[in-house]
Order: sequence, then structure tokens, then C-alpha cells
Amino acid sequence: MLAIPAFAKQTVAVFGIARSGRAAVRALKAGGAYVVAWDDSAERRAQAEADGARIADLTKSMHGASALVLSPGVPLTHPAPHPVVVQAQKDGAAVIGDIELFFRRKPQARVVGITGTNGKSTTTALIAFLLEACGVPAALGGNIGTPVLELADLASGGAYALELSSFQIDLTPSIACDVAILLNVTPDHLDRHGDMDGYVAVKKHIFDQPAGATAIIGVDDDHCRGIWEELRTQPGRRVIPIAIGHRIEGGVSVVDGQLEDRSGAATVTLDIAALPALRGAHNWQNTAAAFAAVRALGVKPDAIAAALPRFPGLAHRMETVATAGNVTFVNDSKATNADAAEKALVCFDPIYWIAGGRAKVGGIEPLVPHFHRIRHAFLIGEAAPDFARTLQGHVPVTQSGDMITAVRQAADLARAEGRRGAVVLLSPACASFDQFRDFEQRGDAFRAVVATVTGERA
Ligand code: ADP
Repeated sequence: MLAIPAFAKQTVAVFGIARSGRAAVRALKAGGAYVVAWDDSAERRAQAEADGARIADLTKSMHGASALVLSPGVPLTHPAPHPVVVQAQKDGAAVIGDIELFFRRKPQARVVGITGTNGKSTTTALIAFLLEACGVPAALGGNIGTPVLELADLASGGAYALELSSFQIDLTPSIACDVAILLNVTPDHLDRHGDMDGYVAVKKHIFDQPAGATAIIGVDDDHCRGIWEELRTQPGRRVIPIAIGHRIEGGVSVVDGQLEDRSGAATVTLDIAALPALRGAHNWQNTAAAFAAVRALGVKPDAIAAALPRFPGLAHRMETVATAGNVTFVNDSKATNADAAEKALVCFDPIYWIAGGRAKVGGIEPLVPHFHRIRHAFLIGEAAPDFARTLQGHVPVTQSGDMITAVRQAADLARAEGRRGAVVLLSPACASFDQFRDFEQRGDAFRAVVATVTGERA
């Protein structure tokens, strides 16, 4: 755990005391601050009290706090500021997040911050993995896994890899990443940022960096390309563009699985086409950004190349959970919309596709061009009737209803057909909330049924 002395002898309010909020209470207390905290859950209030916080309703008063540490899930501006935010503004308390506390402490180790609409977790985990594999002490956290304030206190030779959501960046005015990465920007979470301009403006703050820092930016969408054009005219830092499908001067590109790093004096090339845990063009973007970041921290390209094939990948993102006979089972439960599911569909053929849940706007209409890879669809959850209509005339459909039935039916058919390269793919293109707590629970359910099905046949 980290201690935050920046607020010693001052009162700080903490609103929302789940994991990151609780870590904030402890870190502030350890740094000598007085903490007043609130959460709607009585259990969490009791926990915070045990951690030394005073419990008081913050929606009525800030109780003398100079700052309010807000949980990133609480609306700051859109659709409307939460009453606690209004109260903080009224009482003159700065509204910040746990990442702000982290930066106020001025970490000795270098900080890599990663944001973007998609690929944040993969890129962050990959960077931490590569650093550790290449002998650089690393800590991984933020929006993935461990809250930042629970991370180890790394010495100057180490590096933090922090996944930062736009909500977290919005609450971090002192952000100062030695290496900042913006992967891509596509419409998402507009309910929380008002409009695309608001969303892009927040993401751009990742590039509020100290002198001599490195900025790494994907340049394949219009918003990021615009930010890149702006950054490259500014002196005082290195700017490394990341391009997929086309080469780029001064940056890192991947074309047909061939990575080419032209950011240094000599061009470095590397074949990444066959990396098992980083399949697909979207993962090439993540890999290229991670490669550039780890190099920026002084690791030699040869060492990165040697470590890359050992990256195990993240659970629920095109994760191979089993292979039995001719059939591979892939858990892509994190694909909660058509855009994400498309990334998996283009990687496999023939596919025995398990999809459905609570549909997003537009359903699976955008996936029609990839239907030819799907041998059979097994539908679950609320979206099943709608999805069946879209698939009609293209793909045979079974209304499976639930995960257990879907996995059994898909496995049976894939096995009976005996096709080479057959993949039973859970890539639902839907939220999970109609049948599961979250996408993790859905992926775990898939994995458990696969284990049973493949175990029965072993
Ligand atoms: P995040 O943490 O930003 O949600 P993840 O690394 O967890 O991103 O990946 C989530 C899903 O987003 C993946 O399963 C994949 O479908 C898609 N994805 C991953 N990386 C990218 C990328 N660079 N560009 C577009 N989509 C991506």
C-alpha cells in the first residue's frame, strides 16, 4: 500500500468506498490525513470506519474537507452531476480520484499510463508482463486489477503500468505519465461525457506530461490522428505514432503481422503474426503500442521479442480455454457489443458461435459480412429472437436458451462435423446482465461447462 502525505493534517472526503475508495481511505490515513467517508452500503461504511474514517453523509456537507475523492463510477458532469459533486463545488472542495492521489505522491518509479476506447487492459497487462520478463520491476493496476493505491512502492528503476479510463483521467488534474498511450477513440460512454468532443477532450489529458516524456498514439482513427497532428508540433517530448495496415515514418507499424519499429536510429522488425495470445489486427495495435512503451523505458528489442510469445493473454478476451480433438474452445465473453465480437469472428473459421444476452443498439447487423465463417449459431438470453432474425437465411440457428445447453450443443456439432480448425466461440455481442452478474461470471460459466464437456470425453 502507498501512503499519501500530500493531505497530512487536512480533511479529505471519500465518496464510494468499494475497492479503490477503501484503498484511498487507508492511503490517506497512512499519510496523516483526516478522512470523512460515505457509501450507500452500511457494510462498506463499517469497513471504512474500521479503517479509521469518520462516517458522515457527504451529500449534505463536505464536513470541512479540502478535497473530495470520488469513485470513478459516480457521475461528475453527465448525465447530471451527482449531488455529492454539487455539494463539493458549493463547499469549495476539489473533486479528484484515487489516481490523482497517486500522482500527488510523485512516484519514484516511472509511470506508463494507458487509455483508449478499446484494448486498454490487454496493452496494460502486456506492458507489465514484458517489463517483468525483461527484468524491470513492474506493478500493474488502475482500472484493471489492483487499485493504484494498493500497489507496491516501486523504486526508481521500476515502472507502473496503469490502465486509465476516461472517468479516471477526468478526476486526475495532476496526471504526469512518463510514457502515455492513447490507443484509439471510438464512440463509447457518451452518456457520461456528453458528446464525442467531451470524450476526446478528456482522453487527450493523458498527454499532460512532464518534459522529456514519451507520447504513443494510434493514428488509425480520425480523432487520434487529429491529436497526433497536434502533438507532433509540440517540442519537449517524443511522439511515437502506431499504425496498423500501413507503414509509418518515425513510428511503429504492423502490416500482415510484421511489426516494424522506425522510431529509433535503426529500424527493428519482428514477426508477430503467430503470437497465440495476441491474435488479430486489434491485438497488433496493442502489441505495437506495448513494444514502443517498453522500448521507451530502455528495454532492448531482442529482449522484448524473446518475451512476447510467453504472454499468456487475459481471461475472457479470445482466451483459449480448451482443445479437444479437432475442436478449440475460445472464451471471448468480454465482447459485449458487435464491434468487439467482430474482432474475434475474423480470427476463426469454421465457427460454432455462442451469442446473445442483453443486446446493444444495432444488434448484430454489422456482423453480416462475417456470417460466412459461422457454421452454426447457438443463441442465449434476451437477444436470441432478434439475433435469429438477423441470422436467418445466412446461418443455421439453434435457440439454446442458456449457456450449459449452448456449449453442449455447439461441442456436439463441432465434434460430429470433424472440421479442421473448428472453434466453439463464446463472443456474445451482448451485455451479460440478463443471465449473469457480469462478463467475467459469464466467461467463467462457459469455461466450467467446457471443462465438463471435454472431461466427459477424455
Ligand atoms: P478495454 O480494457 O479497453 O475494455 P480489453 O483489452 O479488455 O480493452 O479488450 C476488450 C475487447 O476489445 C477485446 O475483447 C477486443 O474485442 C476489443 N479490442 C481489444 N483491443 C482492441 C483495439 N486495439 N482496437 C479495437 N478493439 C480492441
